[in-house]
Amino acid sequence: MAKVVIVGASTGGLPAAYEIKKTLGAAHNVTVISNTETFHFIPSNPWVAVGWRTRRDISFLIKPYLDKKGINFISEGAQKIDPKLNRVITGKGTVVSYDYLVIATGPKLSFDEIEGLGPEGNTDSICTVDHAEK
Ligand SMILES: Cc1cc2nc3c(=O)[nH]c(=O)nc-3n(C[C@H](O)[C@H](O)[C@H](O)COP(=O)(O)OP(=O)(O)OC[C@H]3O[C@@H](n4cnc5c(N)ncnc54)[C@H](O)[C@@H]3O)c2cc1C
Repeated sequence: MAKVVIVGASTGGLPAAYEIKKTLGAAHNVTVISNTETFHFIPSNPWVAVGWRTRRDISFLIKPYLDKKGINFISEGAQKIDPKLNRVITGKGTVVSYDYLVIATGPKLSFDEIEGLGPEGNTDSICTVDHAEK
């Protein structure tokens, strides 16, 4: 039995989990690790920013959908990847071993690279739903 772990449960990670599970079937183990329990449909962030949608309208809880497909879900952010021992350690200290690892943690926003840039500075952002709400 192969153990596949996917870190990140958004536009990249969730389809990867579905496709891998569908291809490998019940004999193999697929686990998604996410630092959030909720999926947000990022392309709808502009509608949240202008008040046409709420966070709730563009979000859903991930776990029930993965349960239906027999995919394990750990809603603890990955803190460390130990590639020598093939394991991911979460922020809560859970150790998750893998045979194959998919990293789908998305971009890291770099507002700090330009002084005053970003929602804590002088500009607005719709990169995340938190920013869009602000
Ligand atoms: C306003 C806006 C509109 C867009 N519209 C479109 C569009 O119309 N069409 C299109 O194709 N693309 C669009 N995009 C781009 C698209 O949203 C991104 O390309 C896509 O979200 C990238 O998906 P991803 O899964 O790689 O990363 P993300 O969506 O950033 O997801 C990464 C996930 O990993 C999680 N994560 C991060 N670190 C950890 C960790 N340590 N442990 C566990 N989980 C972690 C994050 O919480 C997040 O859930 C848009 C983007 C924006 C900002």
